[in-house]
Formats: sequence, structure tokens, C-alpha cells
Amino acid sequence: MELALAVDLGGTKIAGALVDRGGQVGPVSTVPTPAKDGPDVVVRAVRGLLRDVLRGGWPDRPGAADPGTSVRAIGVGTAGVVDVQAGTIVSSTDTFTGWAGTHLGAEVRALTTDLLERPVPVHVQNDVDAHALGESWRGAAAGARSALVVAVGTGIGAGVVLDGTVLRGAHHVAGELGHLPIGGADHLRCPCGRPGHLEALGSGAGMRRHYAWLSGDGSVLDARGVVALATAGDRTARQAVRESAAAVGRGIAAVVTVLDPEVVVVSGGVAEAGPLWWRPMEQALRAELVDVLEDVPVLPGSLGVAAPLLGAAASAWRLVDAA
Ligand SMILES: [Zn+2]
Repeated sequence: MELALAVDLGGTKIAGALVDRGGQVGPVSTVPTPAKDGPDVVVRAVRGLLRDVLRGGWPDRPGAADPGTSVRAIGVGTAGVVDVQAGTIVSSTDTFTGWAGTHLGAEVRALTTDLLERPVPVHVQNDVDAHALGESWRGAAAGARSALVVAVGTGIGAGVVLDGTVLRGAHHVAGELGHLPIGGADHLRCPCGRPGHLEALGSGAGMRRHYAWLSGDGSVLDARGVVALATAGDRTARQAVRESAAAVGRGIAAVVTVLDPEVVVVSGGVAEAGPLWWRPMEQALRAELVDVLEDVPVLPGSLGVAAPLLGAAASAWRLVDAA
């Protein structure tokens, strides 16, 4: 049997698993990301994780070949803007020290050669793109020829998948809808430094800051806290959740209007807050769409944390097939 090693490299943790050709995911291992310790330490952490994944094997298939010799490729979804062709990190937030310029593909390939007893091809892409590809391959957008997959968590990201391929863009940032200008966000500054962007209001961090702005209460630590207050009946918290969610809906509507995707998938920690968030998001989205688009399916993600691993594996398999 043939297996791919998939890696989801985020700001706080790294997850890894074996994935087969059909999209079955083996046991998932995780380690904390030593993001502040520099790229060399991060890549060594990836190597250690993959060694553990290989030792864990493929338990559902007794008698299968040794996972080490069955591994055909490695797929990595990582935080940061990625040049997929070069396998390098173009830029990243300051969560990671020295991440920009890292030749991640080449370094992972070199550091895993001894583990796998030969070098294997390594595919590197942005983690949100990997997430989008995973939902398109085996998740909520499976079977659709085109999909917009939006992740709403601490930040906001999105990936556009067309015929099984992620749209990367000329500058490696296609799908970054967090930086759309959006009405109602002028009082909040986006992490990119500009006021009025969607991420400043629609992300989890944005929801928290919007609540602080509305209420004068800066003591609520995160979006979860705002949602808990809203659920308990706090009117200002309800307003913050509603307006934050509606901003996401309007932002998605703008992208749907340009791309006309077959399906929209919305996932991430904030999107899982329930109808209190989902209803105003979908209402605002549909209110903005022209009649011919108004029935576009808008679905929650179905894969959770497995989505970026599956997307990373899908790209690894594509690399194998193209060789
Ligand atoms: Zn921005």
C-alpha cells in the first residue's frame, strides 16, 4: 500500500498523520510548535513528530507494509504565505521568528531522508489552502467542481478550489478575504495595520475587540467569552456576535459574487459557536447576493482538524502522480 505523510504546522501546534490514497487518515500525533525558536528548531520538531507518526504505523491494516517504506511523499500545510512552486515561506506574522525565507520543502526533505531511508517529494502550501483542499476532497465540498472554503477562528482565511486545484494567485495570497474592506469595521484596526478590514471585525479577535468597543469592558478574553455572555442574554454581547457574524456574511457575499462557486463551506472555531453566530452570518450573506446566486449552498465544514491534513495529503498525492 501507498501512504503520504501529512503535516499541519500552526502557530501553537504541529499535527501529523499518515493518509492513504483514498483519504483515510491514520492516528494523529501533535507537538507544540517552537515558533519563537527559529525555523531550524521548528523543522526538527516536524521531523520528531513524523518519526512518532511512523512508529505509530497504520493500525487499521494489519499486515500492511512498513509505513516507512510505503511513504511516497510528504504534504505540509503551514502558517504563513507560501510560494508553492519553490516550497518556501514568503512572509508570516510575528508568531514565528525568522519564518520568512525558510526553504521548508527542501529542509523537510533533507531531514526526513534518514527516517524514510530515501528522499521523497515534499509539497508545501498555506494551511488555509490545505484546509480548503481537504474539505473539497473528502469533506463538505466533496463532489463540487468549485468551492469557497472560509475558516473563521482567531483570524479569517479562505481558500478557493477550482477543479481540485487551489487558486494560489500571482503573489501567493489568493483567497485572503480577511483583508476585504467591510462596512461597520472602521473603528477597528486589522492585524495588517489598516482600519476597516473584515478580519478586524469578523474574526474571533475582532469580535472580542468589537464587544470591548461597544461595552467599554475590555476584560472578556476571547470570542468564546463574548459568545458565552451572548448566550446568557447580555444584549451588548449579542450585538457584538451579530455584527461580527454579519460582517463575515457580507465579506463572503462579495467573494461569491465574483467567483460564483458551486458551494461555500464555513468552518473554524468561531463558526462552530452555533446559530447565534451562524444565523446572522448567513442572513447577511444571502441579503447581499443577486437572485441568481441566492440559493448557493452554505455549509459548515465536516472534517474539523483533519481538513488541513487531508488537503496536505491531496497535494502530496498530486505531486506523486505528476512525477
Ligand atoms: Zn487587513
